[in-house]
Amino acid sequence: MLIAKIIENDQLIQATQASNSEIYYCPGCKARVQLKKGNINIPHFAHINGSNCDVSAEGETVNHLQGKLALFTLLKQKYDEVRLEPWLSQIKQRPDLMVRKGKDWFVIEFQCATISLEKVRARTKGYRQLNYKVIWILGENYQNKRLQARTIAKFAIIYQQQLQVAFWQPTKGIVWQAWWQIDGKSRVLKRQMMANQPQQLLKLQQAVMQSKPEIWPIQNELYKIKRLVIGIPWECHPQYSLPGGLKVAQWQVIIRVLLT
Ligand SMILES: [Zn+2]
Repeated sequence: MLIAKIIENDQLIQATQASNSEIYYCPGCKARVQLKKGNINIPHFAHINGSNCDVSAEGETVNHLQGKLALFTLLKQKYDEVRLEPWLSQIKQRPDLMVRKGKDWFVIEFQCATISLEKVRARTKGYRQLNYKVIWILGENYQNKRLQARTIAKFAIIYQQQLQVAFWQPTKGIVWQAWWQIDGKSRVLKRQMMANQPQQLLKLQQAVMQSKPEIWPIQNELYKIKRLVIGIPWECHPQYSLPGGLKVAQWQVIIRVLLT
């Protein structure tokens, strides 16, 4: 981590400004941390004994620490206020960065290592409790290999009216990529109409006749409001493809949204 507290005055200090003569502790678990200044890594703090502190990302790689610091510098030019590793005591979480534009605060997580969907959800849930939006910025590890659709789904947000993922590139800064660019698919343009709504309906009728298993849960929902699958509104047979790499037919997604 790059930020620690000084025992005497409770002040936060950045590792680059810290000296070996002081005693530092973790803003999260309050345990002692050690200042590490070396030739290879940039100055940072580490828990002294193999700590089980949740909030410290022990084993943070050089890339993670360097990227976080570079992001801090970059974002300071773009936002009204930037905080490095702020400790959010209400939710006991410590994001990498937080930025403010006007009244709105955003959390920025700079993700280098792989992370489970459960962890992403748990962290996001915490930030949501405090009404912060989260932007995940993916490090080098995520750029050296082809990303799976499920990985994209984990981190993508709607940015400039498109489903996008943010990447950190040391030479270019923050690079946003739309899901179709990452997925190697061709872009779905607004003009690309499918114009096959009757055909979509015909396919659906066939699926009903064949009692396909995916039909039943939706059919049951529709029965409750005295409707039939083959009578769903035309909006459920969209003229344009939905972005995001759906695994089911588009009508299933749209009818569920309408039912909700
Ligand atoms: Zn700690």
